Amino acid sequence: MPSDPMSREKNERPLEVDVAFDAVVVGAGFAGMYMLHCLRGLGLSARVYEAGGGVGGTWYWNRYPGARCDVESMQYSYSFSEELDQEWSWSEKYSPQPEILDYANHVADRFDLRRDIRFDTKVTAATFDDAARRWIVETDRGDRVTAQFCIMAVGCLSAANLPPFAGMADFRGPIYHTGHWPHEGVDFTGLEVGVIGTGSSAIQSIPVIAQQAASLTVFQRTPNYSVPAWNDKLDPEYERAIKADYPAFRAKARARPTGFYFEFNTSPALDATPEERERQYAEFWARGGLPFLGAYGDLLFDKAANDTIAEFARDKIRGIVKDPATAALLCPDNVFGCKRLCVDTGYFETYNLPHVTLVDVSTNPIERFTEKGVVTDGVEYAFDAVVCATGFAAMTGSFDRVAITGRDGLTLKEKWRAGPRTYLGLTSAGFPNLFMITGPGSPSVLASMIPAIEQHVDWIADCLGHMRDTGAETIEPTVAHEDNWVAHVNEVAAVSLRSTCSSWYVGANIPGRPRVFMPYIGGFPIYVGKCNEVLSNGFEGFVIDGAREADTRPRVRFTERWRAELDLDVISPAAVAARRVPVV
Ligand code: FAD
Ligand code: NAP
Repeated sequence: MPSDPMSREKNERPLEVDVAFDAVVVGAGFAGMYMLHCLRGLGLSARVYEAGGGVGGTWYWNRYPGARCDVESMQYSYSFSEELDQEWSWSEKYSPQPEILDYANHVADRFDLRRDIRFDTKVTAATFDDAARRWIVETDRGDRVTAQFCIMAVGCLSAANLPPFAGMADFRGPIYHTGHWPHEGVDFTGLEVGVIGTGSSAIQSIPVIAQQAASLTVFQRTPNYSVPAWNDKLDPEYERAIKADYPAFRAKARARPTGFYFEFNTSPALDATPEERERQYAEFWARGGLPFLGAYGDLLFDKAANDTIAEFARDKIRGIVKDPATAALLCPDNVFGCKRLCVDTGYFETYNLPHVTLVDVSTNPIERFTEKGVVTDGVEYAFDAVVCATGFAAMTGSFDRVAITGRDGLTLKEKWRAGPRTYLGLTSAGFPNLFMITGPGSPSVLASMIPAIEQHVDWIADCLGHMRDTGAETIEPTVAHEDNWVAHVNEVAAVSLRSTCSSWYVGANIPGRPRVFMPYIGGFPIYVGKCNEVLSNGFEGFVIDGAREADTRPRVRFTERWRAELDLDVISPAAVAARRVPVV
């Protein structure tokens, strides 16, 4: 994650050495920002360090053309402040990156967050001092501060993966990564452009880059399913209706397995006749986006059911792409929705343009870069610029890039060598007072992420509030509870078809990473219920040390809003048992 030198200069500041805080937060995306707000609410002192030059995280870094959210904007936003909900207006159903970044900046200003954030500062190390029972946090600028609590808000999709292709340094043109896009933008007009990758970032950017470039060549390792967004201006009537009772809408969303609201059908696909299925898929396709997976309840559990939606989606590709050979290459043959489903605007249509070419690198990988371009299968493709839409070292990558050392010199990287181990995706044994927001083992990337973030932050805030109320010094999960949670995360992953393909959910997008299904796929409300139960039972599964009053019952300050009755019509135990709950 390179800092922008100009921005770093702008953010010149004195070093912070031997300063003590109640909490240090790493990262100022939506997670770090809300965490800071809650820490202030508790009256705790906090310092946030952020590698970027501003707030917004994902939306600060991913400025590639076409970047936008794939969860509707009316839901892809904070819910903790009714005033914020009422005063902010989105212009489109799925907002573009600049508008989401504006929103993040608006939140930072409105809640006066910036004064406690140090920008252009990367945390390099966090070390638990057992004697002092505090974390020592060090940065690339030379800061060295201590804190009782260290909170990692580093993001699930923030450690960019730039594959080390041979000869990259020889290429005479620029190589961009979608997750580190230049702030001044890139003008591709008249250029010969290569794009590597066909995941969500590529699928969003390719149609826009194609409008400018003289020629566009896309290198595809694995084809992806994509559903049209049917994005449009936000309907003012829709916005008014939601804002008339935003809290109720948010509550409905929280009760859904994905943490966001859309209509779905829980019946099994194979109970319908082929004609009924065709009608159903057509209707859900017309709704567009991720809710397409809500057409039936068993699509991610029953391969035969999944085959029917996969074939429908392949038919759509064949119907759009005129050249049959290109269409065949673009048709995935794996489970529909196994990799994160993509949402597009004109992606497949782009391949009908005469200056756009698809190159299959599934069997003959990219060999190397040369001065002129990229070589695969012995053929050199010449470019003025190359875009690597090659994704992220997901879920654990940002943790790996900080030297985190817990008790007895144990490093998190070493502990997670065979795959991440956490209790609830919030904490890890051996690392007292270290918290993670949307860590591996929590719903995180399988839910709409802002609710997932808010629920974690609220839980951590109640935990810290409890520790302050009782004068406790450390909190740490027991190994037994962590082991049980990891086993449970793996067990539920095994029932979903999602665990069967080589996606970033299992770390398989990058050679050498352990193959472990990292997010919790049991459904957001079930997970939230478990977190609530742990808290209500006095932090069951945790050892709390140094408390004055061991029997003080935890006060529920922040997590109250996660305790509302769930929408049991939809998320009934029977539906879950019957595996008829689509998890997008
Ligand atoms: P991030 O936004 O990733 O922020 C983490 C911050 O931590 C970054 O700013 C980073 O610079 C900083 N950081 C990391 N390590 C360090 C360090 N060592 N020192 C200092 N700072 C550090 N989710 C959805 O639910 N819906 C969507 O539509 C959606 N669209 C997405 C589109 C793209 C292009 C991408 C990449 C992701 C998308 N996501 C989406 C997921 C998205 O990451 C989350 O929704 C959300 O923005 C994550 O917020 P965060 O604060 O947890 O992490
Ligand atoms: P990604 O889904 O991991 O896609 C990366 C692409 O690069 C894949 O096609 C991958 O191929 C390819 N690739 C990686 N290494 C390669 C190599 N060495 N040679 C050739 N190809 C290579 O990453 P992403 O597109 O950035 O998306 C990551 C996630 O961020 C998404 O799944 C989503 O959760 C989020 N996101 C959301 C949106 C949105 O719509 N709001 C937009 C962007 C991102 P393989 O498939 O073979 O690995």
